[in-house]
Amino acid sequence: MKIPRAGLLALNPEQRQAAEQIHGPVLILAGAGTGKTRVITTRIAWMLANDIQARHILAVTFTNKAASEMRERVATMVDQEEAKLLTISTFHSLCVRILRESIEKLGYKKTFSIYTQSDQLGLIKKIIVRKAGKEENLDPKMAQMLISRAKNRGIPVSESEDALISEVFRAYQAELKVLNAVDFDDLLILAVRVLEQSDEARAFWRRRYRYIMVDEFQDTNRLQMDLLRLLVGDDQHICVVGDDDQSIYGWRGAEVANILEFERFFSNPKVVKLEENYRSTNAVLSLANSLIRHNRNRREKTLRSSKGDGEMPRILAMPDAETEADAIADEILTATRIKNRPYEEFAVLFRMNTQSRLLEEAMRRREIPYRIIGGQSFFERREVKDLLAYLSMFLNQDDDVSLLRVINSPPRGIGDATVTAATEFSIEKNISVYEALEDLEFLSLLSSKSQGAVARFTRFVSGYRDSALTDSVNYGAMTEALLKELNYTDHLRKTCKDPEEASQREKNVRELIESMYHHQGRRPEKGLRGFLDSVALMQDREKEDENPAPGVSLITMHAAKGLEFHTVYIVGVEEGVLPHTRSVEEGTRDEERRLLYVGITRAMRQLTITWCRARRRYGEPLPCYPSSFLKEMAPEWMLQEDFEVLAKKPATEEVAKDYFARMREMLGSK
Ligand code: ATP
Ligand code: MG
Repeated sequence: MKIPRAGLLALNPEQRQAAEQIHGPVLILAGAGTGKTRVITTRIAWMLANDIQARHILAVTFTNKAASEMRERVATMVDQEEAKLLTISTFHSLCVRILRESIEKLGYKKTFSIYTQSDQLGLIKKIIVRKAGKEENLDPKMAQMLISRAKNRGIPVSESEDALISEVFRAYQAELKVLNAVDFDDLLILAVRVLEQSDEARAFWRRRYRYIMVDEFQDTNRLQMDLLRLLVGDDQHICVVGDDDQSIYGWRGAEVANILEFERFFSNPKVVKLEENYRSTNAVLSLANSLIRHNRNRREKTLRSSKGDGEMPRILAMPDAETEADAIADEILTATRIKNRPYEEFAVLFRMNTQSRLLEEAMRRREIPYRIIGGQSFFERREVKDLLAYLSMFLNQDDDVSLLRVINSPPRGIGDATVTAATEFSIEKNISVYEALEDLEFLSLLSSKSQGAVARFTRFVSGYRDSALTDSVNYGAMTEALLKELNYTDHLRKTCKDPEEASQREKNVRELIESMYHHQGRRPEKGLRGFLDSVALMQDREKEDENPAPGVSLITMHAAKGLEFHTVYIVGVEEGVLPHTRSVEEGTRDEERRLLYVGITRAMRQLTITWCRARRRYGEPLPCYPSSFLKEMAPEWMLQEDFEVLAKKPATEEVAKDYFARMREMLGSK
């Protein structure tokens, strides 16, 4: 056999075995950082070196980021031209590829469009208007959620739900087909269907992808598993790698059972165990192991570090979340200034997206570059943008963009036709949409029902205008009143895909109000306008940061899967946050533990876990308690400290010396 240009030499014997075994099913079950992903990439290089054509090789991962990282890793080992012929993709993009070729077998045209969530919603709205009788009422986003759920479970929307929703569902599917469009859920469903129903398509794709690899296999769900089983040919050249301890998508229907029952689907697999962890120090690993040991139903595995004990992980108690963010940002700043370490070596991990706001602010204040991975920037989120749009509109009714954003969110009976007419009228008369809505000539064009809805809206806006313009207004409280009037929480619950998303968005709203109170306390003279300006400036900065400038990674534990960083901070490890409050009622405590395990095992050399004694809710500090997971971890592998005590200690001489040496260097003196 030919030897690939690079790669195999950099594997240990077990990894090498797995990489060289290119025929028949292979199952690599191994702990974090043992080189599973490296085995996949090297295996691809090995196959190419053994004259397997690149076009016959498929590697599937979960996120775009993971796919592009894998592509980069492979590119360093193989010929560039060949690399282009490989298929390295996510499940969704694989399905698009399959459907672009084979969807005609299902009676769709090859040129189908893919509908995003907002396209989908627009269509659903249209259908509801057409189908609903006078007395009937169906929230479009609710319908969207029910339809998606029904499609994923492969069942029709239950007749018992109510007749209208089943009718809308049927019409929606029919109309999608007429429009020659598929939605996101359809991608997987239709790809499975075409492979199931068409022998020709199945044979075609099996001839195309003869060697299949799947990373993060522990998080595949039923549909994805079906897809794999249909795609894998009789010779069963499939290699999956995964770690049952890192299964963190139970709530999305991922089935750890898949990994535990791999043998049932693919006969006599070669099972490879990897036990050497190349990523983390012994201290980090021991801490991670002492935690995950508490999970039931797991495959026992050994993990050894090749890096020696290393630095002790710290568990730091913080007085509050503001101090937590500031302390971490300060520490990163010091390490980059004194030790000259690059920002990319640092990552701050959190359980919920909302936790990123204070961190973002702390980084910005120090001009530390950062990037948010796997989440939108806080101020980009739908619910946050909605509220900011309301506030901007109160200050300036002529801000058409804000007005159009919120005029029907939540819905208030002003139909799309009215909005379009108002927009057209405003263009014609060269006035703002709000002015059009107050214009008698325009109003006379509307039905009396629409007139009523429009009048209620303009009254509502002018009701807030005066207080919004008063500098001394308590705008945090004003926004809370607004939320109540809009019934915004209800609106979120109705329009989110699942309760997890709704509660996440509710928390974001609370975070936003929190930041208003905070701002108000510090800059009382600037009023609401001052607050909105400061937010707008942040968004401007955000745009500049968009090019992939290097920086500190702020990242949820879910999105951190598969990644690694020299120094990792895990923040907010409090009871109720991690484990999440809901995990108690839902019995998902083990999954929360796996999530923390994923977080800890991202660290290569330094790990700090922080928790706060208090967090602010509506400006009031509420007491918090350390996560019960912290008590499960081996005390001999952690350094428990209290930030307030540490902060009072004078800096050690060494640090001070280092610092002054750097300063002199920066100032150009010797
Ligand atoms: P995770 O479970 O977190 O996805 P993983 O098992 O996929 O981890 P990799 O990301 O492939 O692990 O590898 C972890 C780190 O160890 C990487 O930096 C990788 O380059 C390195 N590594 C893997 N195998 C070896 C080896 N044989 N020699 C040296 N370094 C290795
Ligand atoms: Mg990996």
